[in-house]
Amino acid sequence: MKVLVINSGSSSIKYQVFQMPESSVLAKGLIERIGEEKSNVKYSASDETIEIETKIANHEDGMSLIFKLLTDSKNGILKDVNEIGSVGHRIVHGGEAFTGSVIIDDNVVAKIEEYSDLSPLHNPANLTGINACKKSLQDTPMVGCFDTGFHQTMPEHAYLYALPYEYYKKYKVRRYGFHGTSHKYVYNEACKILGKPNANIITCHLGNGGSIAAIKDGKCIDTSMGLTPLEGLIMGTRSGDMDPAIVTYLMDKMNVTTKELNDIMNKKSGLLGISAISNDMRTLIEEKDKGNKKAELAIKMFCYRVRKYIGSYMIALEKTDAILFTGGIGENNPFVRKWITENLEFYGIEVDDKKNNTRGESIFSKDSAKIKLMVVSTDEELSIAIDTYNICK
Ligand code: AMP
Repeated sequence: MKVLVINSGSSSIKYQVFQMPESSVLAKGLIERIGEEKSNVKYSASDETIEIETKIANHEDGMSLIFKLLTDSKNGILKDVNEIGSVGHRIVHGGEAFTGSVIIDDNVVAKIEEYSDLSPLHNPANLTGINACKKSLQDTPMVGCFDTGFHQTMPEHAYLYALPYEYYKKYKVRRYGFHGTSHKYVYNEACKILGKPNANIITCHLGNGGSIAAIKDGKCIDTSMGLTPLEGLIMGTRSGDMDPAIVTYLMDKMNVTTKELNDIMNKKSGLLGISAISNDMRTLIEEKDKGNKKAELAIKMFCYRVRKYIGSYMIALEKTDAILFTGGIGENNPFVRKWITENLEFYGIEVDDKKNNTRGESIFSKDSAKIKLMVVSTDEELSIAIDTYNICK
């Protein structure tokens, strides 16, 4: 079955076509700057990449162009769009309604709309993608795969905030967690590598956004992101955890609106805020190596926060089989992995420096270590394709 995966943002559409169950990628691409004077379109198939600049007024026009590219007589991979057997849509917020991926019907659409107030930037954009896709593929089943879905197994004591209980009922204030498709995918891959049907694993997704999950026998029991993706780790531009009183204190001191402070915490903080150089870990490492102390401090703070979460999740899991690193930083940066995991032999964590520095090694702990340290590449699109295929086959 050919599965089209769509990740629709407010001004972009990321797409990928998989041949399932083989999991091979037939075509992929990206449209950016939808609605602007000039939009960028990228399409790749069979090692050929096409890049076009053209005006794309809205998501419907964007989807039409994607279908045109996919069926193009020269570079296309389909004769007819109806060869697409199913479509998987990435949906950011599924609230408490969705514990896993589901076929999208009118009730599901209504729920995604209902949760838009918790994810005002993403859910409406995800819905736009669904509607645009429906215009061309009326009879093709569509599946919604939620970033929050995998984390819905968290127990009450982990997902509630210690605010008046009624706020949970009235305003849906609780921890939901995000990056669920990634945590689920790398967990399943790790179990295959470990040769176990199930295991207790701490999955560290460290990219520009970052989150950690404690997964016990296949079920998430805690995760670092909360009501929104702002909570938890220090990220490229997000602060992660901080004393909530800072919000009211700074609003008084700086005379800023809620939106302005929200922007500061989400877009001007984290690695960028501390270093005042960049949100990009590669740049910070280069700067640190040149002796820049702010860059070094930002990296140190980043690693220290991850260590603290790992420690608390080892307690939450009671027994840990593996600690896994994924995402742009987790997969590619041995230096950061080393800082996070060094000097923890007492807890059964022992880094093998040679393996840590070798690309392609999935296990980088010493053979003697009680807890395996792992690197597994994430693939959120493939995770969505797998769910979509399993539901629609
Ligand atoms: P992602 O959001 O998963 O694409 O990850 C983006 C982050 O990964 C950025 O901070 C990059 O600097 C970082 N990254 C990607 N490749 C490397 C690398 N080879 N070494 C260090 N950091 C990397």
